[in-house]
Amino acid sequence: MFKNREDILQVLSDAVSEGVVVVDKDQKIVSTNASADTMFGYETNELIGQSLNVLIPNNYHPKHSDHFTSFFNHTEKRKMGRGRYLYGLNKNNKEFPVEVGLNPFKLYGETYVMALVTDITFRKDIEENLNIKSEALQAAGNGIIISDALQKDNPIIYFNPAFQELTGYSSEEILGKNCRFLQSDDTDQDGITKLRKAVKKGKSCQVTLRNYKKNGTLFWNELYINPIKNREGLITHYIGIQNDITKRKNAEEERNYLTKIFDNSLNEIYVFDFKTLKFINVNYGAQKNLGYSIEELRNMTALDIKPNFSLKKFYRISAPLRSHIENKVEFEAIHTRKDGTTYPVYVSLEMSMLGERKVYIAIILDITEQKNYTQKLEKTVDLRTKQLKTALENEKELNDLKTKFLSLVSHEFKTPLSGILTSSILLSKYIRGDQQENRDKHIKIISDKVHYLNSILNDFLSIEKLETGKVNYKFTSFRLSKVLNEVVYNANMLLKEGQHVIYPDNIEDLVLVQDERTIELALTNLVHNAIKYSPEHSDVTIKIAQNLKDTVFEISDSGIGIPEMDQKNIFNRYFRAENALTTPGTGIGLNIVKSHIENLGGSIHFRSKFQEGSTFILSVPNIAH
Ligand code: ADP
Repeated sequence: MFKNREDILQVLSDAVSEGVVVVDKDQKIVSTNASADTMFGYETNELIGQSLNVLIPNNYHPKHSDHFTSFFNHTEKRKMGRGRYLYGLNKNNKEFPVEVGLNPFKLYGETYVMALVTDITFRKDIEENLNIKSEALQAAGNGIIISDALQKDNPIIYFNPAFQELTGYSSEEILGKNCRFLQSDDTDQDGITKLRKAVKKGKSCQVTLRNYKKNGTLFWNELYINPIKNREGLITHYIGIQNDITKRKNAEEERNYLTKIFDNSLNEIYVFDFKTLKFINVNYGAQKNLGYSIEELRNMTALDIKPNFSLKKFYRISAPLRSHIENKVEFEAIHTRKDGTTYPVYVSLEMSMLGERKVYIAIILDITEQKNYTQKLEKTVDLRTKQLKTALENEKELNDLKTKFLSLVSHEFKTPLSGILTSSILLSKYIRGDQQENRDKHIKIISDKVHYLNSILNDFLSIEKLETGKVNYKFTSFRLSKVLNEVVYNANMLLKEGQHVIYPDNIEDLVLVQDERTIELALTNLVHNAIKYSPEHSDVTIKIAQNLKDTVFEISDSGIGIPEMDQKNIFNRYFRAENALTTPGTGIGLNIVKSHIENLGGSIHFRSKFQEGSTFILSVPNIAH
């Protein structure tokens, strides 16, 4: 079938996909196959007889000749170029990368070399491309890892220097591990759950995790993972890109924290523009107290909420800030709420920069409470001052009364005593038997005055008893008529010329269960006063009425009356009205009566008109309790 052995060789060498170029020891091409001809762009047999140099770029010729000579001295089968890229030259003078295998052989005593040439243009492109990508990964600022999804637990098979720098782990500690080692014990994180879900579904995802460096320091890792699939759609790898956002996160947290302080502050905080005075930001507390939303406030100026503030006033107050004399000015003002109500505030105003913008910051304290407290305090002080004044006046009044009392007492004692003295001197002069009438007159005077002195002394003692609470009331059942008769009988002895006591005669049935002596003392006092403070030829009227509960006595006279201005003091101890001073008296009687009657559960009051007369009304319970 084959004419000769060369034909067989040719068929064989054409069947080889590599280019086959056979040269002799003089570097002359003796044979090529079809692949070689196509690769270098020649026609069949066109290369035969040509120098090998036509297939080699010019700049390699000298070196190549040296190599060829030395190769011929030690012929052995090997690859050419020792790992370096080799280049071939085609007929159009274009270089292309090649891989060359050298196969020396001997034929008929001659040595030949068969070069097997492969065009590696395509492979070199891929290799270079890969190299660039790998360099890029290596040089990236973000930490990058690649894990093998086909192996159990997704072990890391690649990491770049940035990853190592970020985490501080050594290559042994990283390679072959699942990247969860970065979580340390802090595994309860929302991001981790999200990440697991994405991996399960074979999807890419971005999460922010709390991760830990080898030295334990926390860093916020913004992790982006992306699955890599092969042609069949099977996930073979995961690529993870880590971004350390700790600084950003911290700044964010700090900002959040400051925002919280701003909003939660008990103070109202306002930030407004330096020029327009329009609000830029207002904290929550202020919005709440004012009743405006932030949107509404942004259309308002600081003056809109201060009813008493003109622009001129604001400029005057803030002048020290604008001229940089002060860092802060403080003043009180009034704020108006959206509903029109107002509240007092204490303002601390500063100038500041919001980025490039000049602003005012006002920190404001609602001082309503404080003001209320101060007002309350002032009111209390006023009240106490008034009380003190009254107490002082009372004290003064008491002092006056005491002085009055002393002079009264001395007068009240002196007058009857001197009367007694005079009568006793005169008495000693009436020695004759027919002068009995005169003697009797003086004896009566002496006895009356002694009685009078005795009654004054009793009054004083009564005061003492009432004051020390030593009065013992003795409650008995008695007829009113009995007491009344006693009172009227004693009163009759004091009556002035033409005076009469008119009293009811139909009271036989009236009975009281009371302290008889006290009732008698009270009535005596009132009747004696009525006689004492009314003129000759006038009547003193006693009326008595009894209902189921109380008995009411009315003692009226047409006497001097009590001046309007003195009426309020009439029951005060030692008090005597202006118009009563010429009449003997101590100012004790009514005071004692009132105390006793009130002790017995009764009451006393009066009606009186100056120079017309008085009526004293006494009411006591029928039965003491
Ligand atoms: P005294 O009569 O000893 O002064 P009282 O306590 O009995 O003391 O009375 C107090 C004062 O009340 C009298 O000083 C007098 O100014 C006034 N007064 C009391 N009763 C009458 C009365 N019937 N008419 C006018 N003034 C009276």
